[in-house]
Amino acid sequence: MDASEAIETQARSLGFGHFRVAPVQVPAPHAQAFVDWLEAGHHAGMDYLSRGAPERIDPTLRLATARTALVLAAEHGHDRPPDPGGLTGKVARYAWGRDYHNVLGKRLKKFTKWLRAEGIAAWGGIDTAPILERAWANAAGLGYSGKNGLQILPAKGSYLLLAVVFVDLELPPTSALNRDHCGSCTRCLVACPTQAFVRPHTLDARRCLSFHNIESRNSIPPQLRNAMGRWVFGCDVCQEVCPHNVQPTDPLHQAFAPKNAWLDLEWVLSASPEQINTDLAGTPLRRPGPIGLKRNAAVVLGNLNDPAAIPVLRPLASHCDAMLAEHARWALAQLGG
Ligand code: SF4
Repeated sequence: MDASEAIETQARSLGFGHFRVAPVQVPAPHAQAFVDWLEAGHHAGMDYLSRGAPERIDPTLRLATARTALVLAAEHGHDRPPDPGGLTGKVARYAWGRDYHNVLGKRLKKFTKWLRAEGIAAWGGIDTAPILERAWANAAGLGYSGKNGLQILPAKGSYLLLAVVFVDLELPPTSALNRDHCGSCTRCLVACPTQAFVRPHTLDARRCLSFHNIESRNSIPPQLRNAMGRWVFGCDVCQEVCPHNVQPTDPLHQAFAPKNAWLDLEWVLSASPEQINTDLAGTPLRRPGPIGLKRNAAVVLGNLNDPAAIPVLRPLASHCDAMLAEHARWALAQLGG
């Protein structure tokens, strides 16, 4: 077994169903597009993106001897369980099970530990590390960049979690998929509920529902609230409409089985912050914080057109958190309550 095969075997044994290789280049692939995106303000003020820009552009700032990027991916897709009806909200697929940061983080830690034990210098991470992971995946041919900006495995889909590890070893690269597999399709660009794509491959996070209902701690802009529909956490529309998204067959993705595909909004609004934090521990649903999740639930209830939501929202209209109270009043106004 040569070095490439041994490393790939190790990665696969740890639960990464996909493994590709790209030579390190500085600046990183797509670096200019990333800089342009930041300068246009399309990152919606997410500071960690601009703060980590130098390392994203030049991975040798973290591993001076980096020669090769190992690109790893795990699939997380499952069929959405049937709509339970009532006062419930939809959750984006990646958040249905355990937090992928924990799941992949542990796998990656074991992988880099193994590499170092083999005498290979390594540094890497998932999307929390300053790495242009999709650009490296593209360069290594782990899928191609769809018009929705996500990496897509042709005829398989985009429900992927990516990790990149830079090593000081020179390995034969895998080839990029040099064809645009979107062709003339524009389904994702058209279906986006907030028209957040300024052009193919370019998302303006300031209009993206996933930014507002996961990352942002502020008010959801009133002009985007109706577009949130039933999305209480994230939004998968640009993936759901993609013809490449078929049920994945990777047997290693059970950590992401659909436990929280739908959220009971009455529970979200009535539970204490401590209860929310306890019940959702170890899942990505902790990310917006209890107030953020309640804010989202209020907007979805306002969109449900169900009078049963009125008594659930009413106590929130005078909540001590002014932002949450305003969202509850907005929702009540939508319902005529
Ligand atoms: S929906 Fe169509 S245009 Fe969008 S990423 Fe999928 S194939 Fe490409």
